Amino acid sequence: MIKGIIIRGVGGNYYVDIGNEIIECRARGLFRLKNIKPLVGDRVLIRLTEEDEHSGYIEEINERYNEIKRPPVANVEQLLIFFAVTNPEPSFLLLDKLLIAAEVNNLKPVICFNKSDLADENRKNEINDIFKNTDYKIIFTSKNDPRSIEILKDVLKDKLSVFSGPSGVGKSSVMNAVQPDFQLKTGEISDKLKRGKHTTRHAEIYKLSFGGYVVDTPGFSSFELEGINEYELKEYYPEIKKLDSSCRFDDCLHYKEPDCGVKKAVETGLISETRYLNYVRLLEQIRKTKIY
Ligand code: GDP
Ligand code: ZN
Repeated sequence: MIKGIIIRGVGGNYYVDIGNEIIECRARGLFRLKNIKPLVGDRVLIRLTEEDEHSGYIEEINERYNEIKRPPVANVEQLLIFFAVTNPEPSFLLLDKLLIAAEVNNLKPVICFNKSDLADENRKNEINDIFKNTDYKIIFTSKNDPRSIEILKDVLKDKLSVFSGPSGVGKSSVMNAVQPDFQLKTGEISDKLKRGKHTTRHAEIYKLSFGGYVVDTPGFSSFELEGINEYELKEYYPEIKKLDSSCRFDDCLHYKEPDCGVKKAVETGLISETRYLNYVRLLEQIRKTKIY
C-alpha cells in the first residue's frame, strides 16, 4: 500500500497526493459502514487499481490529530493569524479570540503582522510588547519585502496551515508572494455568504513548492467562545496562567477580587494592559451569556 494525503474531495472522489503524483481514489465501502467520512488533510494508505495505476482505493485512514469544521480539514497543524500593522488597524480583541480558537482546536498559532512597510520600529515594538510573556510566535511581513516572505515560508515549510484574519490585511497578496500561483478563495466565500446560500464548501489543500500545504480558504471567520466557561478563559491567556497561583483566592478570576497577582502584574507592566482588558471583556461576555 502507498502512503498519501487527501488534498481534495469532490462527490465521493478523493485526490490523494502520494508525493510524485495525485491519485484519484474512491473510499472503501467499509468506511461508510463505520460511518467514517474521509476528510481533506487525512493521512491515508491507498491501493492502486490493477487495471489503472492512476486511480485507487483508500484502504486506511490514520487517526486524526485534529479536525476543524469550517472549512472541514483534518490534521491542520498551524493557524496563521493575519493582521495588518495599520490600514486597517488591528483588532486585538479579535486577535485574542483567534488565539483562543487555535488552542481550542489544537493548532499552533503564529501571529503575522503584515504591511510592516507602513510601520516604524516603535510601532513594531509596541505590538511585540502587547504579547510579552506569552511565547506566541509573531512575525512581521510585507508583500514588498522578500526577506520577510522568506521568514513566512520558513514558518509554512513542511506543515499543514490554515489562514485567518479580517479582509484587507493582505492575506492574498502575501500568499501570492509566497507562491505566485496560489489563489486564496476569500472573495468567493463572502459572496456566497452575502447571497445567503448554503452551498457545501469543498475544502482543498494546496501544495507548497518548498514543502507543506495550506488550506485554500480562511478559517475561523465566525469563531465565538462557544463552550468556554468563565473559569476556563484564563487558561487561554498564557501570561495570566503563569501567575495563577499569585492571588489570594485559588479560584480568582482576576476581575474584581482583592489581592490579585494578575492585576498587580498589569500595574507593574509584566502583563500588557491591552491583553488584560481584552480578557476582562471576554470574561464579561461569557458571564452575560451564561444560562442560569
Ligand atoms: P486580503 O483581503 O487579506 O486577502 O487582502 P489583500 O491581499 O486583498 O490586500 C488588501 C490591500 O492591501 C490591497 O490593496 C493590497 O495591495 C494591500 N497590501 C497587501 N499587502 C501589503 C503590504 O505588505 N504592504 C502594503 N503597504 N499594502 C499591502
Ligand atoms: Zn487574580
